[in-house]
Amino acid sequence: MKFKKVITLAMAAVLGAALLTGCGSSNDTQEAPAEGDTTAAVESTVPTVTEGKLIMATNAYFPPYEYYENNEIVGIDAEIAGAIADKLGLEVEIQDMEFDSIITAVATGKADIGLAGMTVTPERAKNINFSDTYATGIQSVIVTEDSDIQSIDDLAGKKIGVQLSTTGDIKASEQFGEENVEKFNKGNDAVMALSQGKIDAVIIDNQPALSYVASTAGLKILDTQYAEEEYAACISKDNDALLEAVNGALAELKEDGTIQSILDKYIVAE
Ligand code: GLN
Repeated sequence: MKFKKVITLAMAAVLGAALLTGCGSSNDTQEAPAEGDTTAAVESTVPTVTEGKLIMATNAYFPPYEYYENNEIVGIDAEIAGAIADKLGLEVEIQDMEFDSIITAVATGKADIGLAGMTVTPERAKNINFSDTYATGIQSVIVTEDSDIQSIDDLAGKKIGVQLSTTGDIKASEQFGEENVEKFNKGNDAVMALSQGKIDAVIIDNQPALSYVASTAGLKILDTQYAEEEYAACISKDNDALLEAVNGALAELKEDGTIQSILDKYIVAE
C-alpha cells in the first residue's frame, strides 16, 4: 500500500480544540489511495465523517501495529484499515495523535475508527463501540538485563513506566499505586527512561515490547505475563451502520485469511 503523507495543520487545530482531555497533540494526516485504484466501481454507502473516506485515529508509536517507516505510517492496523476500506469502497486517511486522544476523536466525530492495538475494556466501551476483535495482546514487563526484578510481585515499590491511559497504565496504577507509576506519552519514551536508569521497569504490550527490546541494548522481557487482552477497533456510538459494515468486513477478512496473513507478516515470534 502506498501512502501519501499530508500534514493538515488546520485539522490538528480543530481536533486539538475538541479534545476533552485538552492535552495538546500534534496530528499527522496521511492519505492512502484505495489499493491499485481500480476500485472506482465500488461506491460506498457507509456513512463516514468525510464522504468516501475512512479516517483512522491511531498513535503511530506502537510497532508492529503502527509505526513510521520512511515518513509513512505502516503496520498491522494500517493494513487492516486498508483492507476494510477496500471492502467498503472507502479511502483510508490516517491521523496520528496521542493514544489518550483516540477515543475522544472517535466519540466526537473527528475520526471514523480508532485502530491502535486498542484493548477492549468495559470502561472504554462506555464512550465508544468496539468492533469484533481481530488480535490478542499480552501486557509484558521490560526490565534491564541486570535487574533484580524477576516476577510481577517484585515490582512492588519500584518505579514502573507506562504509556499514558493504556491498559498497562490502568492496571499498574491500580495494583502498585499511582505514586509508583510514571506515565509517558509514547511507549518508546518509557523504554528510553528505563535504559537510562530513570525507572525500574516498563509495562507494555508484548509486541511493542519485543520490538523495543530488539532495538535497545541491555533490556529483557520477564517470562511472566502481566495480563492477556483482546484488540478491537473503536467506532462512534452514533454510527451503528459503520460498526456493522466494519464487523462484516472483518468477518470476511478473517474467513479468507487476510487478517492472519497481515498478522503473520508483522508479528515477531516470542
Ligand atoms: N493495548 C493497550 C491499550 O489498549 C495499548 C495500546 C497502545 O498503546 N497503542 O491500552
